[in-house]
Amino acid sequence: GLKLRKLNAVTKGCSDYISSPYNLRILQWNILSQALGQMNDNFAKCPDEALEWNSRRYLIIEELVEYCPDIICLQEVDHFNFLSHVLDTQGYTGMFVPKPDSPCFYIHGNNGPDGCAIFYRQDKFELVKAETRVLEIWRVQSNQVALLMVLRVRETGQEICVTTTHLKARKGALLSTLRNEQGKDLLQFVGEHCGRMPLVLCGDFNAEPSEPIYNTITCDSPLGLASAYASCDTNSKSSAENEPPYTTWKIRDEGEICHTIDYIFYSKNSLEVDAVLELPTGEEIGEHRVPSFSYPSDHFSLVCDFKIGRSDM
Ligand code: NDP
Ligand code: CA
Repeated sequence: GLKLRKLNAVTKGCSDYISSPYNLRILQWNILSQALGQMNDNFAKCPDEALEWNSRRYLIIEELVEYCPDIICLQEVDHFNFLSHVLDTQGYTGMFVPKPDSPCFYIHGNNGPDGCAIFYRQDKFELVKAETRVLEIWRVQSNQVALLMVLRVRETGQEICVTTTHLKARKGALLSTLRNEQGKDLLQFVGEHCGRMPLVLCGDFNAEPSEPIYNTITCDSPLGLASAYASCDTNSKSSAENEPPYTTWKIRDEGEICHTIDYIFYSKNSLEVDAVLELPTGEEIGEHRVPSFSYPSDHFSLVCDFKIGRSDM
């Protein structure tokens, strides 16, 4: 079976990754909206100073730049202009799609709505098209969005599709049904625009692997998708059981919240997972969990190296 080379703290960074027309490094991250993190989330053990934009923003940039991803997919972006300005100096360009009625609007001193963003390396790709979608639940628009880009690898002409989303939050049976409906709409949207080209579909799905949407995406879709972090095929466990134990780990008044809700899905027939970045250990994270002075978001970044395989186009 496939043996994943795990990127760990030692190989962290760009030194082991040489971008080529035949590979792809994707970074997926809910960076925590500045307005929500400071005024809404109520992280019980996170010092207020760690949530100041002036300290957080450099940690966010550092993490984005550290891995030299070819493509960066972000959620809870409410400082797109800052990110865009800094990432431009590193050779990236990007796009932002706001949530229609972002909860940030209701926060005093907000910096505008939060939403999803995709950045890509301009020397490697040219943009073929970008599409946005307000996700629908039973044909009614919700407050969640998706951003899709078709990118052409300049050197080979190979086209790939990248889509990111941030699905409805909160727990409960109804909410997991709503997320599943958003997932079906998302797959339909992606199917319409990406055809059979290699696809990466990543984001904060706000759903654990046991939720219906996980199967909707990995089993029921004609797009032939698998989850990158669960593709470690070294035992007979199902995909859902192979997911990492957490992608977010925070402490609220009601207790610790430690679970897996962020994913990088990819098309199995045209992409191959070469490596994934390991999540930090509990010890590295520290007893007060995140965000913290070391980790600027309550979610961890996921990084995956793909080989671009034979194209079915
Ligand atoms: P979601 O339920 O999807 O959540 C919005 C944000 O809240 C997410 O970024 C989510 O982060 C975060 N979140 C999740 N759980 C918690 C928690 N326990 N404590 C704090 N933050 C949490 O919201 P919607 O996009 O559907 O928007 C919420 C609605 O609230 C909007 O429609 C807005 O108009 C509405 N509203 C708010 C008002 C206000 O005064 N606050 C007034 C009127 C309307 P993550 O995904 O990382 O979990
Ligand atoms: Ca959040």
